[in-house]
Amino acid sequence: MTESRHLGECLDGQRFWNDVQSLASIGALQPKGIRRLALDDQDNQARLWLVEQGRALGCQAYYDAMGNVFIRREGKAPELAPLLVGSHLDSQPQAGIHDGALGVVAGLAVLRTLHEQGIDHLRPLEVVAWTNEEGARFTPGASGSSWFAGQRDYHAIVSTLDGSGIRFGDALDDCLELLKEHGLTYRPEPFIPHTFLELHIEQGPVLEALNKPIGVVSGIQGVNWYEVEVEGQANHAGTTPRQVRRDAFDGAHEFVSALKATVLEQDDDLRFTIGKFSLWPDSVNTIAQHAAFTIDLRHPTQSVLDTLDARFHDLAKRQWAGCDTSLKVTSHVAPVAFPEHLLDVLRDSAGRYCPGTPELVSGAFHDAIHLAHVCPTAMLFTPCRQGLSHHPDEHIEREDAEVAARVLADAAASLLG
Ligand SMILES: [Zn+2]
Repeated sequence: MTESRHLGECLDGQRFWNDVQSLASIGALQPKGIRRLALDDQDNQARLWLVEQGRALGCQAYYDAMGNVFIRREGKAPELAPLLVGSHLDSQPQAGIHDGALGVVAGLAVLRTLHEQGIDHLRPLEVVAWTNEEGARFTPGASGSSWFAGQRDYHAIVSTLDGSGIRFGDALDDCLELLKEHGLTYRPEPFIPHTFLELHIEQGPVLEALNKPIGVVSGIQGVNWYEVEVEGQANHAGTTPRQVRRDAFDGAHEFVSALKATVLEQDDDLRFTIGKFSLWPDSVNTIAQHAAFTIDLRHPTQSVLDTLDARFHDLAKRQWAGCDTSLKVTSHVAPVAFPEHLLDVLRDSAGRYCPGTPELVSGAFHDAIHLAHVCPTAMLFTPCRQGLSHHPDEHIEREDAEVAARVLADAAASLLG
């Protein structure tokens, strides 16, 4: 497919931007933003919108047992593993219109460009929309991609409940029924793709600060989640002398100070966050008997996370302000470094439209972190204003998004053969 090495130059930027806006009308909030919770009516309608667009381009639509939707443009060698390009269509309850959707619509723009240019390619191309990336309605998120990549168990996913007690599995059944009614082909099992590419908004401030329309993502930070409990002794706030107090808040405070000191010895890429903190019995004039808090620890390098994990556990063995502490890991996702050969493809394509394209590590999770376990995977970021996302005010510039879609198209073209 030598003639299409620069496929991105032929991409219709206006049409791409129009598609982004049409999709945003599904689940639209006033005055702006969207609400498409995983597997709700709007999320399902967004799937059907994608199917309709794909069919108009002569593509075939498939769905799997997790409701992931695939729009396939056949290759001259249909037996080859397909190149997957996409992201997710579901959103947070009060969301911007580009988180996830941009990556799916950009995939569609690549399909459209191939179709309009009448280009045949060796390898099949599939645009994918993964189910429940956000985890806003059913927690945890990335259900579709983690199941597809064999990272999470089907039964564990379908048995989760939303806030009103609806089972994931029941909502999924309705979605699958709808997809069947609309004539999609059921392809229940996951498969091994040739490559997965995901374009996503950055959801951080780096690219905007650099004034660059795109960034090549070299990997995704790993994360450890912890729950910490500190056990003291409740007593009267006024009558208990200082030397006999075992104040769980004091214990937590000293322990956190020690953890922070350890963290500060590490490089700037380390992220340490205490996002939840509670005391019991939670009374103004009672010494806290019990303190509990969470830690979210992130870094792009596994060995750094391992070192800190060991240090944290050592520190938890000590007494702090006379209190016992316990530390428990509640979740661990290993960091991912995207393969160099694929980063080179993106660097090449990116350099054509944006010389000096920066490279960055993703601080947030994406479907790509799971796909990286089954096939070569990489991502592109495009900036969003002030790094804001998960909010209707999330904003991107059309010119940036167009560059990102063109780079994606070129990279796809060189992988399709
Ligand atoms: Zn997203």
